[in-house]
Amino acid sequence: MKKLLNYDVLIIGGGVIGLSIAIALQKSQEKLKIVIAEKEEKVILHASGRNSGVIHAGFYYSSESLKSKFCRLGNSELKKFCRDQNLPLLEIGKVVVAKDEDDVKRLEALVERAQANGVDIDLLEEGNLTKYEPMAKTYEKFLWSPATAIADPKEVGRALEKVFLARGGKILFNEKLMHFQENIAVFASGNTVGFKACVNSAGAGALAIANKCGIGREFELLPVLGGYISTSKNNIPLRTMVYAAPHPLSPFLGIHFTPTLDNQVKIGPTAIPVLGSEQYSAMDGFSAQEMGSTLRALNSYVLGDPITAVKTLGNQLSQASLRSMVNAASDLVPNTPEPKVWSRGKAGIRSQLVDLNKREFVQDFVISESPGIVHILNAVSPGWTSALPFGRYVVEEFLLSKI
Ligand SMILES: Cc1cc2nc3c(=O)[nH]c(=O)nc-3n(C[C@H](O)[C@H](O)[C@H](O)COP(=O)(O)OP(=O)(O)OC[C@H]3O[C@@H](n4cnc5c(N)ncnc54)[C@H](O)[C@@H]3O)c2cc1C
Repeated sequence: MKKLLNYDVLIIGGGVIGLSIAIALQKSQEKLKIVIAEKEEKVILHASGRNSGVIHAGFYYSSESLKSKFCRLGNSELKKFCRDQNLPLLEIGKVVVAKDEDDVKRLEALVERAQANGVDIDLLEEGNLTKYEPMAKTYEKFLWSPATAIADPKEVGRALEKVFLARGGKILFNEKLMHFQENIAVFASGNTVGFKACVNSAGAGALAIANKCGIGREFELLPVLGGYISTSKNNIPLRTMVYAAPHPLSPFLGIHFTPTLDNQVKIGPTAIPVLGSEQYSAMDGFSAQEMGSTLRALNSYVLGDPITAVKTLGNQLSQASLRSMVNAASDLVPNTPEPKVWSRGKAGIRSQLVDLNKREFVQDFVISESPGIVHILNAVSPGWTSALPFGRYVVEEFLLSKI
């Protein structure tokens, strides 16, 4: 039988962003009836449970961006959340290394950003690298970020779900939002939910939902697969995370080394455009409907600056195979063990938007509104790190006035 349920606030999507907004709402007004509608049978099955688990420090992003505003704060809040919830946390910091003079200039630019964002990092001489990470190599200088840490995205997600439920929140599983009829959400099951305010935090599904409300037509979704390989830490006993200096024109940080909480070391994530927002392997999650929009996004991006786009994409595609990932990683850590000890891990997909007018990747998180509904778009990295304070911001600036 089809049901009409009524809530004060409906949140679409049980990822880290939806859960964080839901908890922030509960904290701001205890009596609110809040429901999360998730199309899967569990929370955290997509980006929020398939990421690197790196709690970023916040020095990559320009100081006026939402990313910089929430990443630094999110870093300390997510670490505190892990401690309070007794979740494992690796506070091992990270080094960012250079391969040439151009990279050294990029590191210097990151120091300026860190200063503007109030983030503590050090630019150190090559000779000091052995004290931080004896296995890494650099050219002349490197960055040391003591605040960067690692947690387990699944454990964090489950803990957020528990907090939300313990405070009286409700989650409807296997409910895929199809469209809205004014203040009523209609799901694929035929069930409906009436609401005073709604948040569209559906990750890779958020733009399609926004489009149905006449929002976000200037964007197209380009799903970008992030693949990982991993091996036992015994094969590569790193002390800390090792990253390359990021290319200024790429929104992705490049493959890097991340020690994990289960005594593995991961290399990744790659950044390979795919045709479907849930196409985790070549044969799976492929959708003809999404293919059209993905190709429009790719086409727009390539036409914007063909030389840079072809270079960026070519560089990423050249790192798709396990062997080429190991080769690329050897630039950072020369004694990276040979390909046979590495195996493929679970990939994630970034919900990267392309701006069709500017013909470039959207760099920051985007918050848009239609009557009664707040849409969270382009929630890419460091969305996981930023989620707790970002959730509060969405509540205070966009939601409370609607309830
Ligand atoms: C490979 C990779 C590595 C990353 N590494 C990091 C990192 O190290 N540190 C960091 O800070 N960030 C990282 N990120 C970014 C981070 O994972 C995301 O910013 C964050 O998880 C986004 O959360 P979300 O809730 O918006 O999306 P999601 O976790 O994707 O959640 C959206 C939810 O909405 C549901 N949904 C979709 N459509 C509908 C619908 N129509 N009806 C109902 N439900 C729907 C989905 O099933 C899903 O559960 C990484 C991302 C990727 C892909």
